[in-house]
Amino acid sequence: MHKFLAGTLLFLVLTVLSQVGGLILWACWHVCRYRLFPDEARRWLAFLASTAAYVAVTLLFVPLLAGLFGRVPMPLFATSEAPVAPRSLFFCLLNRHYVKPEVKELVLTTARQMAKDYSGSQIHYLDGGFPYGPKFPMLPHLSHADGRKIDLSFCYEKGGKYTVSPSPIGYWVYESPKPGEPAPHQGKPSWFRWDLPVLQGVNRDRQLDEERTKHLLRMLLKNPGTEKILLEIHLQERLGISHPRLRFQQREAARHDDHLHLQVK
Ligand SMILES: [Zn+2]
Repeated sequence: MHKFLAGTLLFLVLTVLSQVGGLILWACWHVCRYRLFPDEARRWLAFLASTAAYVAVTLLFVPLLAGLFGRVPMPLFATSEAPVAPRSLFFCLLNRHYVKPEVKELVLTTARQMAKDYSGSQIHYLDGGFPYGPKFPMLPHLSHADGRKIDLSFCYEKGGKYTVSPSPIGYWVYESPKPGEPAPHQGKPSWFRWDLPVLQGVNRDRQLDEERTKHLLRMLLKNPGTEKILLEIHLQERLGISHPRLRFQQREAARHDDHLHLQVK
């Protein structure tokens, strides 16, 4: 009985996190456990085989059907032609890297220009959207359901060299307001803003690369396809950048000081 409950819970969690991941894992486990390796003693073999099948189906089969829903996957790995990569491969394994083609094109165009202007630059993305349909809620980013939004990492440097965000998943290690900078959210607890103080010391030898991040914002804002970018007001002030399409949310908003939120027309 407890195995059934654990399986159901895993199915539900994977469905919430990845839309079709629960279904894929259930199908893979069913085939491997009961068809390929029916012997009780081979349970671990079935576990390994079903995990491998999950990864293969997720990365090879799901993208094929996503096209029917007008979604394309963002690149899995950065190349010189497409210097764009997920901050963590888990975004891809959970099917959270699907967007409208125009979003992918805008990010790729910007990344190529960034790589020309600042050698070695790459754009690292976080949550995009799910592969199938605009009705399935994507937690905790409900607005991402339409495939027109994607979260991008800021640029960081360590010892004068370009590097990735301090947080291994891009979220939750943020740039707090410095003394004198506007802090409209300070002292106003919200369900949408998690302070997570215990994580704020993670990889803090990596500093926000203000010049490169400002350039990234400029490139994105220059593109007529960009409808809106969300960035906390204190970072707009620190970077010295303002634009009618560069906004921040005053009330009941998720943090936008650990990443920027890009919305494409
Ligand atoms: Zn977002």
